[in-house]
Amino acid sequence: MNIQTAIITGASSGIGAATARRLVSDGFGVVLAARRMDRLTELAAELGPHARAVELDVTDAESVARLAGQMDSCDVLVNNAGGAKGLSPVSEADAEQWRWMYETNVIGTMQVTKALLPALRASAARHIVVVSSLAGHEAYPGGAGYTAAKHAQSVVAQTLRMELLGQPIRVTEICPGLVKTEFSLVRFDGDAGAAEQPYEGMQPLEADDIADCISWAVSRPSNVNIDRIDVKPRAQVTATMVHREPH
Ligand code: NAP
Repeated sequence: MNIQTAIITGASSGIGAATARRLVSDGFGVVLAARRMDRLTELAAELGPHARAVELDVTDAESVARLAGQMDSCDVLVNNAGGAKGLSPVSEADAEQWRWMYETNVIGTMQVTKALLPALRASAARHIVVVSSLAGHEAYPGGAGYTAAKHAQSVVAQTLRMELLGQPIRVTEICPGLVKTEFSLVRFDGDAGAAEQPYEGMQPLEADDIADCISWAVSRPSNVNIDRIDVKPRAQVTATMVHREPH
C-alpha cells in the first residue's frame, strides 16, 4: 500500500519539526523542507526511512520550483515556514523587517502552494494546511508588521478555500497563540532574555500541541473540512490579555 506524503515547510524547528514527528507516527511519509539542512538531515535520520530532507527557501521562486520538481504527488502540504522580526511601533518600523515578514509568511505560502498544486491534484487525499496565527485575526501594539503579514496569510487561506471549491482539496488554517519554540528568539534577533519575556509567569503551548491539531485536522474523513482551529494556552485569551503568576 502506498503511504501518504506530507510536505512540511519550516520543518527544521518548532511547530514544523513537531508536526513532522507526529505525521510520521501517524503513518505519513514526510518531506522536511527549510533552509537549515543540518537540522533537517538530523531530523530525517531520527525519523527513519519515511522522512526526507529538502533544502527550501520559501521566498526564493527557484528554490520552490526545485522542491516542486521533485514531487510527483503530495497528499498534505503544511505551510508552516514563517515568523516575526521585531516588536517596534509603526512610528519606528523597520521596512526590511516588514519585508522579511511579508515575504516569508505571505509570498512564501503563495509560492509553495502554487508550485505544489499540481502534485496535490495528482494525489487522492489533498489537504493544504496554513499555519497562520492568532496574529492573523488580532492586532496588538508593536505587532503591526507581523499581524499585517499574518492577516494577509489568513486571507490567502480563506481565498484558496473559495477558489478550490468543487475540487477535492481541503484547506485548514491553524491559528496558535503563544507557543514556546524558536519563534521569539528569531523575533528578538537571538536575544535570549527578551525571547523569554512573552512566556514569563505562564505556561505556553508546546509545538506538540499544534502538531496534535494538524494531525487531527488532516485525519478527518475526506468530506469534512476543518476551516480554522484557534488554539491558545489556557492563560491567554487575546494577543495581549495573558494571565501571569507572580514570581
Ligand atoms: P520557529 O521555531 O522559529 O520555526 C520557524 C521555521 O520557519 C523554521 O523551521 C525556519 O527554518 C522556517 N523558515 C523561516 N524562514 C524560512 C524561509 N525563508 N524558507 C523556509 N523556511 C523558513 O517558530 P515556530 O513557532 O515553529 O513557527 C512556525 C509557524 O508558526 C510560523 O509561521 C509562525 O509565524 C507560526 N506561529 C508561531 C507562534 C508561536 O508563538 N511560536 C504562534 C502563532 C503562529 P530555517 O530557518 O531552517 O529556514
